[in-house]
Amino acid sequence: MKMNIILMGPPGAGKGTAAKQLKEAFNLVHISTGDMFREAIKEGTELGKLAKTFIDRGDLVPDDVTIGIVKERLAKKDCENGFLLDGFPRTLVQAEALDKLSKEINREIDTVINLECEQDELVRRISGRRVCKNCGAPYHIETMKPKVDGVCDICGGPLFQRADDNEEALKVRLHHYVESTKPLLEYYEKLGLLKNFNSLVGAKTLFDEISQYLKA
Ligand code: AMP
Repeated sequence: MKMNIILMGPPGAGKGTAAKQLKEAFNLVHISTGDMFREAIKEGTELGKLAKTFIDRGDLVPDDVTIGIVKERLAKKDCENGFLLDGFPRTLVQAEALDKLSKEINREIDTVINLECEQDELVRRISGRRVCKNCGAPYHIETMKPKVDGVCDICGGPLFQRADDNEEALKVRLHHYVESTKPLLEYYEKLGLLKNFNSLVGAKTLFDEISQYLKA
């Protein structure tokens, strides 16, 4: 089985939802750099204060900072049985650093799962997205409603709209995706690691397709 996984795709492609399902099904450690930054912002740490200035605008947090937190997290013991990187790497510098690091600690990447989605759909998904303040579970006001309005099904926490899920920040995020992150697909294709999935099929079918591929 392929167990050290990178999950890629533009903002709104469904990485968060797929990551949650895959993490449970395959008992993987879910490493989301976006979640790590949001946690640091909530706690008011120095990292959080720094990250917030970039995230709220839709800009990328500098490579050295991002690579530093991933390096620390990947070295922890719980990653030895498999991990799912969600939202990292996003630049070539990060991809090269990950390559070096994963070799050093003997935790090399087995596969890169890329979720493809059209831009109109990305905008629709992001503008309707709501997230649980406590556990980060993702919802959508039309397509993935919670049982009780504004309340997380899993932990009962309040749902909110991310500060960077607005039109202006989304434009910037999509720009960074096209300029800095999309070229990584070619990088991983060359390494023979890339596997594309169409995320328009819906969360359930997408999860089934990825699961089948990982078990093969
Ligand atoms: P996400 O939750 O993955 O959409 O990430 C939210 C925001 O966190 C991004 O728009 C960036 O500002 C920042 N971020 C997350 N991961 C990275 C990364 N690998 N490199 C730089 N910035 C990141």
